[in-house]
Amino acid sequence: MTAAKGTSADATRPKEAASPGGRQAKAAPRAKRAAAAKSTAKSTAKSTAKSAPEATGTGNADGRPVGGKPESHLAMVRRARRINRELAEVYPYAHPELDFRNPFELLLATVLSAQTTDLRVNQTTPGLFAAYPTPEDLAAANPEEVEEIIRPTGFFRAKTRSIMGIAVALRDEFGGEVPGRLEDLVKLPGVGRKTANVVLGNVFGVPGITVDTHFGRLARRFKWTEQDDPEKVEAEICAIFPKSEWTMLSHRVVFHGRRICHARKPACGACPIAPLCPSYGEGETDPEKARKLLKYEKGGLPGQRLSPPPDYPGQPAPPLGAG
Ligand code: SF4
Repeated sequence: MTAAKGTSADATRPKEAASPGGRQAKAAPRAKRAAAAKSTAKSTAKSTAKSAPEATGTGNADGRPVGGKPESHLAMVRRARRINRELAEVYPYAHPELDFRNPFELLLATVLSAQTTDLRVNQTTPGLFAAYPTPEDLAAANPEEVEEIIRPTGFFRAKTRSIMGIAVALRDEFGGEVPGRLEDLVKLPGVGRKTANVVLGNVFGVPGITVDTHFGRLARRFKWTEQDDPEKVEAEICAIFPKSEWTMLSHRVVFHGRRICHARKPACGACPIAPLCPSYGEGETDPEKARKLLKYEKGGLPGQRLSPPPDYPGQPAPPLGAG
């Protein structure tokens, strides 16, 4: 459960990762051949076959039905929970990748993160939070000055309207505090379920699944869902995992999507959960080439937060303009 374990695991499981289904999937055909060729090998073949995904209920690992049977819902749930456990080993330090010191800052940072990277938001918010530390300050700001500060995050006019609207609502309707209920949060300008769940899960301790672009993509690659609509994805994933896991599961899956299971070229050959993934082979399977695709701390690069948590094993991100 150390950072080093997570990092090295990526690099030291090429054999499993290079074979769809890893050791378990390989064992089944070998066992069948042995059983057919030698009657004396029957018992050995049986015991080896038991370790195949079909027999363990971990499901097929190459995206096709094992033995002609599709993966049962129960097998998928077991496999999904195992993926979550393995991701917890790989990313014991998973956390929100937006810099914040209080609920107000996290709410604004999450709204600003639409259509841009957390890194760009983290490089921009220090100036915003220094100029307008409270909802009252931001509600009374000159919109043009706010626009200038948040310009690097893109869509800065619409985002200025949203965050100033949030500040006004917090000042006038919630006594200057961020509310801790989903139904209140989603009424704020520019705040949807995703933003609300980020705030609830990370500052109020209310479990929530955060379906962003990474989470949705990986949930479909893992065959946890076939839905595209984030709300439907959220509902289906909530039914697979216990509530207590929802927030950390979200962080782990997003961490994996940002570092290894990228949108265009997933690094399958360096992926520690390849044996459990039905989409193995969608990306680079050559272990050496795959390792070069790893990002952030997995690739020895700076992370997205300028102020990462103390247990983060990588380097902090540089401030705006520093590279
Ligand atoms: S990188 Fe993604 S698609 Fe490839 S094996 Fe890992 S989780 Fe599956």
